[in-house]
Amino acid sequence: MLTYPCENPPNHGESIEVAPGVFWIRMPLPFALDHINLWLLRDRKDGVDGWTIVDTGYGSDETHALWERHFAETMQSKPVHRIIVTHYHPDHVGCANWLHEHTGAPLWMTATEFMSAHAAADDAAGFDRDNSAQLFIAHGLARARPDYAAAQATRTAAFKKGVAKVPRQFVRIMDGDEIRIGARVWHVKTVFGHAPEHAVLFSAGDENTDQILISGDQVLPRISTNVGVWGNQPEANPLKQFLDSFDKFKNMPETTQVLPSHGRVFTGLHERIAEYKLHHQERLAELSAAIMEPKSAAEVLGVLFKRPLDNHQLIFAIGEAIAHLHYLWYRGEATRTQDADGVYLFQRVGMKH
Ligand SMILES: [Zn+2]
Repeated sequence: MLTYPCENPPNHGESIEVAPGVFWIRMPLPFALDHINLWLLRDRKDGVDGWTIVDTGYGSDETHALWERHFAETMQSKPVHRIIVTHYHPDHVGCANWLHEHTGAPLWMTATEFMSAHAAADDAAGFDRDNSAQLFIAHGLARARPDYAAAQATRTAAFKKGVAKVPRQFVRIMDGDEIRIGARVWHVKTVFGHAPEHAVLFSAGDENTDQILISGDQVLPRISTNVGVWGNQPEANPLKQFLDSFDKFKNMPETTQVLPSHGRVFTGLHERIAEYKLHHQERLAELSAAIMEPKSAAEVLGVLFKRPLDNHQLIFAIGEAIAHLHYLWYRGEATRTQDADGVYLFQRVGMKH
């Protein structure tokens, strides 16, 4: 059983000190998933007390107003020394530029996430809508779901809506870096599958302090992390990358307090990782059974997702379906062929026609 040290999350504009100098705040999101957790760490730079912010929220007037309130109240008008962003998704990087302009603090991010934020905002490097439409058509979505075009049409706009601008400079963080923030040292680890070079931060603690993991979207307590294939890497195997990334957590104790981007702060890291592994094994087994006959990713959506999918969810769902099929394909447990329309079909290996 996962345990949740705080019964309730903080209300918008309020904070909870989850460990000495580590504050949990929440910001609203305009999606079915209606919140993101952000973290404020007491910091000291050049003799001046201040703050490090971890993740920034979706760029909206509502989030900006809440930040103003936190500056005055939670942060007692002390300066922001640095803004760390775990990965480029709009709910994480959305307010980075606004915060950078308001505080003068530098953005700290991994290089691939920084570049991806710019590329997604500019429709560059294959982040454009046509590129993902091509991928989804190649996996049968247009044929299986004629309403998919509407879903695609909203997607690029959604990134720009939440990320008006991305800072033009950054401090590059890398796997293995150690960052001293206030009284704690945080170890940077990079993990894969959900985002191209997602950073998580682990503080090992000492006799006075607990171990803390800021896990971003890589480890969430209740919902499963989105792992999908996208238009600019149509041959990717992100599910393997995602599952392999759990090795990065293996030396962290089970008593580690996990600070996820969605849901509540919890302990039970390895139990949760075991649940993730089981979840994906079960999905892979179901999928494997569903492709006795050749099927496209669009045709197996119902195997992976039992609930009806709205247009926003459909885009993530097809990416997930391709990720699972690619996992089987790269393991040699499925073959991939193309039908007369050029749609990719996957079939379990070893089955008679
Ligand atoms: Zn994310």
